[in-house]
Amino acid sequence: MDRDNDAAVVNTHFRQTLLAINQVLGDKAAMDIYFAANLENFSTALLADNMGKTFNGYDYARILETIEITYGDRGPRILRRIGKESFHIVLREQPGWMNTGKRVFKLWSANQRSQFMLEAIVESQRKIYPNHEIWMEEKNGELAYIEQNCLVCYGRKSSHPVCHLTTGFIKEAIHWASDVDFEVRETSCTAMEDAYCRFVIAKSTATSQST
Ligand SMILES: [Zn+2]
Repeated sequence: MDRDNDAAVVNTHFRQTLLAINQVLGDKAAMDIYFAANLENFSTALLADNMGKTFNGYDYARILETIEITYGDRGPRILRRIGKESFHIVLREQPGWMNTGKRVFKLWSANQRSQFMLEAIVESQRKIYPNHEIWMEEKNGELAYIEQNCLVCYGRKSSHPVCHLTTGFIKEAIHWASDVDFEVRETSCTAMEDAYCRFVIAKSTATSQST
């Protein structure tokens, strides 16, 4: 697979992330981040809400990396909050996305609901990135979400997993669907030279708390 060719970010996706960044950091701090990431000419107003691809994965990953560096120890938590916010932006902007879920959720267990949610995320990601390898796994009672062409860490090198935004998105989505707080952990990351980014969803014994 030609990773460079498949590394362009869909405009709607890029825009939703920037909206979430602005919402979590505030407009001024968000603009400081775009400056620090050498992306000061980008603003949400310039971004088209369509399936075109104006920006590449390097731009996208650099913004997220700049947030991580700028906020130090708080960086991962802030990025998870941005992921959480992104989920609500997607829900708001694609209100039909979860229609089927809402009809059947009442009849289902938390595990069934979280599995439905994860399948819905896989499906919607495959729809906007048809050339990407994205799939779900179920092993020993644990669900996992796997992306081989992750844009969140595109071009990055790290000794630890860095896709906090995806972790926050999945955690919030599953919490929204199931009303149960599941722990979500990134166990493999392409930034660590793993073959894919893998997010494991395990039922948490912790009480619900926002991270
Ligand atoms: Zn990753």
